[in-house]
Amino acid sequence: MQREDLEREDLIFVGTCDLSGHLRGKAFPARDLESRRRKGMGYTGANIMMSAFGPIYDNPFGTVGDLTLIPDLSTKVDVEFAGFAPERFCLADIVTAEGEAWPYCPRSFLKRGLEALRTEAGLEILSAFEQEFVYTGVGDRPGTTYGYDSFRNQGTFGEIFISAIRRAGATPDSFLPEYAPRQYEVTVAPQLNLRAADEAVIVREMARAVAFRLGHRVILSPVVELGAVGNGTHIHFSLRDLAGQAVMYDASRPYGISERAEPFVAGIVRHMPALTALTAPSIVSYFRLRPNRWAPVWANLAERDRGAALRVSPIFRAAAENAGQQFNLEFRVCDATASPYMALGALVHSGLDGIRNKLRLPTPPAKSIWEMEPEERHAAGIADLPGSLAEALGRLESDEALRASLGPDLLSAYLRLRASEINAVKGESDEAICARYAAAY
Ligand code: GLU
Ligand code: MG
Repeated sequence: MQREDLEREDLIFVGTCDLSGHLRGKAFPARDLESRRRKGMGYTGANIMMSAFGPIYDNPFGTVGDLTLIPDLSTKVDVEFAGFAPERFCLADIVTAEGEAWPYCPRSFLKRGLEALRTEAGLEILSAFEQEFVYTGVGDRPGTTYGYDSFRNQGTFGEIFISAIRRAGATPDSFLPEYAPRQYEVTVAPQLNLRAADEAVIVREMARAVAFRLGHRVILSPVVELGAVGNGTHIHFSLRDLAGQAVMYDASRPYGISERAEPFVAGIVRHMPALTALTAPSIVSYFRLRPNRWAPVWANLAERDRGAALRVSPIFRAAAENAGQQFNLEFRVCDATASPYMALGALVHSGLDGIRNKLRLPTPPAKSIWEMEPEERHAAGIADLPGSLAEALGRLESDEALRASLGPDLLSAYLRLRASEINAVKGESDEAICARYAAAY
């Protein structure tokens, strides 16, 4: 008898991409989906304090509290891998026993921002996460940066991955060999609001799922090798009105950013040093945000500059009749140790603050940022990004608008969780820290 002939029963895993950026939860028999959709799966407060490395180092909840993970069936993934176990999971909201959104739920942090954006500004956000990772199923052959041979070497990983993404309900856009050794990137079509963050989680899991079945793994940690170019997660976004019209582009204005969208973008720029604590949330995130890595080090907005924190993407003239539809900004200060819900939520809440306070962007600097002295950058209103997680957490803690958007409970839990992560690797070398994150992500 073959192993695959043994009787099996379908299971569905329900989980959430939590504050540490890991998808965690529990499985139940698929036949119970309907009842589980209503009653959910048990969860407790301490679950949200599970660290990047696994252990709960600090726990304000103790052993107390009953919560539930309520699966959102719109996120259901059911992908077969011939000859292997399938991938069956659903993403979830964390809900109290009374059926209310739990204040610490990352998905509801994003939902709160989206709801306010819709009701206060009549806007929605269309976004796509572009994700880079290292695939361990290949060796490195020097010289094959972006090379066809690098593409060839991954064998069937890319094709199985793209098929899995499509069958999981997302629309694949591209798959490419990236700059660093063994590094690849995947992009998917943009989606409105919550769905984009759900898909970012799904795409990451599909990358892991495919690598696992091929006997390898993907490493999404922002820096795998100290000194090499890192793995970024870039968030491309644009704004739509409630009729679905693109409202971000105006060719006559600075950066091509419309009057309606400017306060939203200005909010992101203003809060960037603080929101970095949510989008680049690990110690290792700051090994990536260093000069000369194609990753940002300043909280700047710039046209077509891949060193900028917020890059105005180009409009391709061949499709210029769709300029408004094409126009988008790329937020580059994010990596895969961030929960996509916290990352997109941080952008939305910061943008909202810009709208509420009618913020304006600083005048575009007369000279390239690459030619400016630090004093010139500061005079032009361009802040430095934090240089470490500890510094970023300090910025978050003193940012009034982001504090309010998180609320005191989530803010305090988040700061404690990340402080405990710093404490857990205290005294370890940068190399050892990199290795710990590479093992965990
Ligand atoms: N790998 C770079 C990063 O860490 C980005 C390279 C690119 O522009 O795609 O963000
Ligand atoms: Mg890239």
